[in-house]
Amino acid sequence: MIKLARLMGELEEQIVVCMRCGMCQSVCPLFAATGRESDVARGKIALLDGLLNKMFEDPNGVYERLNKCLLCGSCATNCPSGVKALDIFIKARIILTEFMGLSPAKKLILRGMLSHPGLFDRLLEWGAKFQGLLTKPASDILGTSCSRIASPILNERHFMPLAPVPFHRIVSSMDTPAGSSGIKVAFYTGCLIDKIYPNVAQAALDVFSHHGIGVFIPEGQGCCGIPAVSSGDAGSFERLLRYNIEKYSSAGFDYLVTACATCTSTIKKIWPLMADAGSDNALKSKVEKISGKTLDINQFLVSKIGVKLQDGNKTSDKGDAVIITYHDPCHLKKSLGVSSEPRTLIKTNKDYSFKEMPEADWCCGMGGSFNLQYYEISSGIGKRKSGNIKAAGADVVATGCPACMIQISDMLSRANEKITVKHPIEIYAESIKKG
Ligand code: SF4
Ligand code: SF4
Repeated sequence: MIKLARLMGELEEQIVVCMRCGMCQSVCPLFAATGRESDVARGKIALLDGLLNKMFEDPNGVYERLNKCLLCGSCATNCPSGVKALDIFIKARIILTEFMGLSPAKKLILRGMLSHPGLFDRLLEWGAKFQGLLTKPASDILGTSCSRIASPILNERHFMPLAPVPFHRIVSSMDTPAGSSGIKVAFYTGCLIDKIYPNVAQAALDVFSHHGIGVFIPEGQGCCGIPAVSSGDAGSFERLLRYNIEKYSSAGFDYLVTACATCTSTIKKIWPLMADAGSDNALKSKVEKISGKTLDINQFLVSKIGVKLQDGNKTSDKGDAVIITYHDPCHLKKSLGVSSEPRTLIKTNKDYSFKEMPEADWCCGMGGSFNLQYYEISSGIGKRKSGNIKAAGADVVATGCPACMIQISDMLSRANEKITVKHPIEIYAESIKKG
């Protein structure tokens, strides 16, 4: 209750900063898709003015409008008044969820499964074994699947299947000393890379080994908590936060590195935001220490290891080179300001010719649970992205977030495009292997 009152007070202070200028309209991918004022940051902030009264009058209406948001951060990045729109939306979702309670489905997923990392891992391992009964391959090039039967949850989606063996079964833990670089990192795998893209984690380990970087991976990592906090479930978020902090805070390392833009942004921005709202000072200082040492893998390799483009070490201009383009994940460029570093990693690989796509930093439309709840709008935004990838004439599109990889794969697969989707660390690992 004390936490809730504090959040409500903070929310009121942050809301008044909005001048209602409407400049967020031109950058909001949701507004571009729907044209509705209630979908843009200004409309949502106006709704939150006097939240307490509106919560009693029409809690479902407020919840619905607040939930219809990609949490992409484009509004916050471009706001001339510095309105912290994402902080506001997250706090408001928590307040509303405390007031209304979680739906039974979210309770089951967030509190029954996600909050218990060991059980969550086992359930998805079973899912990986039996997924073929309900799904069938859709695109060999992209590795996507689709539903065998009419399904209200999967509908016409082309999704990435669970990997036959998750990364934590390949490497359950690791603790190697710093090598020639003199640097040791803690690697935070993240759920999507662990369970869908273990190849990305393997590429990261290959790169660490090449540069003589020591690696710490604790056994049994938990989810970073973003699905819980974006659903307003502060309890599940805190459980996962405490669980992960215990896994990492006793180990010695220089940086915590992740290859997932969403996990990096959550650890750096949301962990401290939520720890600050509580009264546990010991937790707060542990969170500050870890989030201060957290870096996106592209940023880490360029800024701390010194990966750079040498003369002649740029992508090929040969006619037969594979054309590659890059999509900026919102959580990497808008939230953390990382955009040149993944491009540097990609350009080290001379087998590719890099070509910028139009609107490279326009949101892909994924938005986590937004894609589950508003698939039609999500794919409308996604089609704009796949159109831009095609316009670049790309054979391969790289992006630094596994959630964007899933969304872009869906769009390209449904359009029957022969374009593959990769992570920049895979492109860089390929160049290292070739020498
Ligand atoms: S959120 Fe920022 S950009 Fe949008 S209306 Fe308010 S002040 Fe203007
Ligand atoms: S977070 Fe993204 S989708 Fe949500 S209001 Fe801001 S710009 Fe629009």
